[in-house]
Amino acid sequence: MGRVIFIGAGPGAADLMTLRGARRLAQAEVVLFDALTDPALRELAPQARWVNVGKRGFADATGQPAINAMLVRFAAQHRCVVRLKGGDPSVFGRLEEELEAMAEHGIACEVVPGVTAALAAAADTQRPLTRRGHGRSVALTTAMTRDGALRASHSADTEVFYMAGRQLAALGRRLQAAGWAAGTPVCVVSRAGWPDALTSDHALSDLAAASLLHAGRPTVVTVGAGAGAVSGTGNTPARVAARRRAAAATP
Ligand code: SAH
Repeated sequence: MGRVIFIGAGPGAADLMTLRGARRLAQAEVVLFDALTDPALRELAPQARWVNVGKRGFADATGQPAINAMLVRFAAQHRCVVRLKGGDPSVFGRLEEELEAMAEHGIACEVVPGVTAALAAAADTQRPLTRRGHGRSVALTTAMTRDGALRASHSADTEVFYMAGRQLAALGRRLQAAGWAAGTPVCVVSRAGWPDALTSDHALSDLAAASLLHAGRPTVVTVGAGAGAVSGTGNTPARVAARRRAAAATP
């Protein structure tokens, strides 16, 4: 019986994976990967058989038992099976179910952390998620419930919403109903960590305006203390984009 290593691939470009993740990947005989991970990662494990088990949001939730079964089957046949997940495996990654399935079959596991989308967005925009004095807590949250309804609250100074890209207008309304002021700063980042990341700034009451810009792209929505530009930096979305273009053009 082999072992299964869950590796966080990070949010985008392959160089955002940890060194430990890259080293473990190089030992893999089989890699089960998600839709959101960078194809360039394949170069880190050319020896392995790569199996796409990509799924997005809740649309393909029935795929989870099939993934669990594949992990068990591959672990019976190979010494080292890697389960590569976008961002960090412990954040909205269905890791619980997969660990349970491995435990049921007595399969040894290891988890290698990765850069979650919220952190990549904070880095891209140079907007720290915690702020001295007024940003003491951060929530990584999804407003989507399992049955597709939206639920929102005001539980931290900064809240970062995953899986809400298609429901920005409704999210804005729900957050106001939950007690956030209409003028609360909101920063929306899609494809954080990629060279073509997009960033936009909004007031909560105006969040619907972000829908078109980020349509069809993985998107995180940062609300509250951590969403505002750091004073004096002038890190407006236009400046951030220009800086990113300049960095991408530098070999
Ligand atoms: N485990 C992943 C999250 C998986 S849930 C992580 O730690 O990042 C999928 C959601 O993550 C998407 O709906 C989107 O909200 C967010 N996401 C993933 N990659 C992203 C990226 N590069 N930029 C912005 N949001 C991203």
